This record gives sequence, structure tokens and C-alpha cells, in this order.
Amino acid sequence: MEEILIEQLDPNFKFQVAGKLGGESIKACFACGTCTAACPVKGVNEAFDPRKIIHMVLLGMKKQVLSSDIIWHCIQCKSCSFVCPQDVKFSEIMAVLRNMAIEDNYAHPSFKETVEKIDKFSLEIREKMLLNILNKKAETLEVNLKELAKSSI
Ligand code: SF4
Ligand code: SF4
Repeated sequence: MEEILIEQLDPNFKFQVAGKLGGESIKACFACGTCTAACPVKGVNEAFDPRKIIHMVLLGMKKQVLSSDIIWHCIQCKSCSFVCPQDVKFSEIMAVLRNMAIEDNYAHPSFKETVEKIDKFSLEIREKMLLNILNKKAETLEVNLKELAKSSI
């Protein structure tokens, strides 16, 4: 995803993103990286970097961004938007990029719904695991998360 091929750059990409509902704020980014520091996905997936994705959009790396798996890793928590000093709404920009990826046939239309189901399922598992722990407070110090996940599904 890092390689920049000048002949593949699309200078209109940032305008296309900014022209979509939710994408308007992208041009205000000044690459401070606060969003990346706040992102919980970055904590478990080193390759996921909101600042870098925005930078790639601004550079015009349309094909590399829209064809990349990385745009599907965001969990839409909005932490990046809350901390951004430039009021960039990255979670909304991410939704725009996903829609564009589907429109340009980089992803099947059903994929977005599948990812949303995974996000919902993850939250349901978290709730069940949490309730499981809260109901057995005395045992929480030795909780085996994998076993707990299995018993909660
Ligand atoms: S926090 Fe805002 S300004 Fe800073 S890199 Fe992220 S989107 Fe850009
Ligand atoms: S909305 Fe997405 S990019 Fe922003 S902090 Fe949450 S997971 Fe990271």
C-alpha cells in the first residue's frame, strides 16, 4: 500500500471524496497524527493508520486506497473525530471510501453489510463476556479470555 506510482495518481480523488456527504472535512487535515494515536484499531493492527489513509487520499492514491483491505478495519467508533484539532470527520470519510470502493467494484455490495454484522457481533460478545465476568467477580483475576469467549458465544 506504500508504493507511490505517479502515473496512477488521481488529483481529483480528494475532490471526489470531499464532494460526498460525510467527506467534506478531508481537506482540512494537516497530518498531525492525533487520530492515529487515539484509534483503538491501530492498537491491535499496526498497519491501520488513519493519518496515513487521509494522506494517501490527499495525494490522489485512489486505486491503492479503494482496493486496499485496510479501509474495512475501522470499527466506526469516532474516537478519531472527537480528538481531531481540525474537526476532520474521519469515521465519516471512511464510510465514503467504503461506498466508493463498492461503486468502483473493488468490493462486493454485500461486504459492507457483512462487516457491520461482524462489528455488531463483536460488541455482543464483549457484552456477554463482561456480564460473565461481572457475575463471577471472585474469579476475574484468573480469567482465560479465550475460554470465556468460547463459553459466551
Ligand atoms: S487528527 Fe485530524 S488533522 Fe490530525 S491527522 Fe488526524 S484527521 Fe488530520
Ligand atoms: S472511527 Fe475508525 S479510524 Fe476512527 S478511531 Fe475509530 S476505528 Fe479508528
